[in-house]
Amino acid sequence: MAMINAYTGQSSTLSDEERALIARREAALGPAYRLFYQNPVHFVRGEGSKLYDADGNAYLDAYNNVASVGHSNPRVVEAIAKQAAILNTHTRYLNEVVIGYAERLLSKFPRELAHVMFTCTGSEANDLAVRVAKSYTGGTGFIVTELAYHGVTDAVSQMSPSLGKFVNLGEHVRTVPAPDSFRVPVDELGAYFARGVHAAIADMERHGIKPAAMIVDTIFSSDGVFVDPKGFLRDAVAEVQKAGALFIADEVQPGFGRTGDALWGFERHGLKPDMVSLGKPMGNGHPIAGLVLRHDVIDNFGRNSRYFNTFGGNPVSCAAGMAVLDVIEQQELQQNAKAVGAYLADNLRALAKRHPEIADVRGAGLFLGVEIIPRSASIAADALTTKVVNGLRERRVLISATGPRANVLKIRPPLVFSKADADTLTQALEEVLKTP
Ligand code: PMP
Repeated sequence: MAMINAYTGQSSTLSDEERALIARREAALGPAYRLFYQNPVHFVRGEGSKLYDADGNAYLDAYNNVASVGHSNPRVVEAIAKQAAILNTHTRYLNEVVIGYAERLLSKFPRELAHVMFTCTGSEANDLAVRVAKSYTGGTGFIVTELAYHGVTDAVSQMSPSLGKFVNLGEHVRTVPAPDSFRVPVDELGAYFARGVHAAIADMERHGIKPAAMIVDTIFSSDGVFVDPKGFLRDAVAEVQKAGALFIADEVQPGFGRTGDALWGFERHGLKPDMVSLGKPMGNGHPIAGLVLRHDVIDNFGRNSRYFNTFGGNPVSCAAGMAVLDVIEQQELQQNAKAVGAYLADNLRALAKRHPEIADVRGAGLFLGVEIIPRSASIAADALTTKVVNGLRERRVLISATGPRANVLKIRPPLVFSKADADTLTQALEEVLKTP
């Protein structure tokens, strides 16, 4: 599958300077990278919910979940600078900042999830989860959703069908239909998802594969954003645990308060995962990620396999992580995500009444999926969605798209997004939808 919202080289409005930068980028970074938008954007600065281009134009960021407490957040910047000026080392020495951060982070989890192992990326956290799950269960089979994304390492790219048909799934990986709340009646959603998981386990067993784990993004972002009804994940997790396998909650997307209801997506479903992977917003752009897990799950692995990740959880990264937690708490960003997310969803549902091509508005907190279905046969759903995403970009509002049909607007702004920002987004979307 071609990447959704990728630049195709057909831009009409780029300056000579930007064209030259694209050419240099392609020459230096090679052919595997993609830029966003028909007219790629060149940013030089960020602040709060805004990004600024080289000409000083402000863009409203309704997409980036990394700079979750706001672009260039001064508290986080100061914490990084201060710690970098004092000490930064690999992670084989005693250091108060690292231990203090680990303890503070763990205090945000159910007591059973007793340890955190630090990595630099979400991919590494999931890769470690895969190793630990294999070691703990003695199994090799993994269950993921049909359009999952879990990262770039060899192991987890084989569990990331959203990378497209040229990236093979692992032989021991089974996919299950995502819990598509738009197409499956909500009161059947839990049973529907669990049936897929049951079938995947049966198929593994028929092939002599012992299941090791199911890993899901608890907000199903690459599958199309599925969040409700709360608790629909429970039956599927029960199937997994009945088969002696583990449940890994990938919180790289929904974690750190984004859903508004809770700090972690799994909490919305009333679940206690065996392992939880963290990433993106954890350091507000500083590369820190991690795996939170139960003691018994890591016990044997810990004794037999050393774990050392040179940069993972270094003092500067941990200072950034600590500052992120401070800002989330002090600025009540989880509450903001809930309030502004609900306000934005209401705005968008009101807009849907005037523009029926908005077929569904779903989401939790500041992670919304807006399903676009054209009302006339003259344009395909993915083409209309691409038009909307690029139309917003021309109005200096940044979002992208997701889902198996590439027809779900993905709205996932920094958690400092305000109601005024939500109004700007809604007005821009209305203008785009009015444009033939
Ligand atoms: N899991 C999920 C659900 C993700 O969305 C991503 C990144 N998009 C990852 C894992 C991988 O994280 P990273 O890019 O930090 O390796």
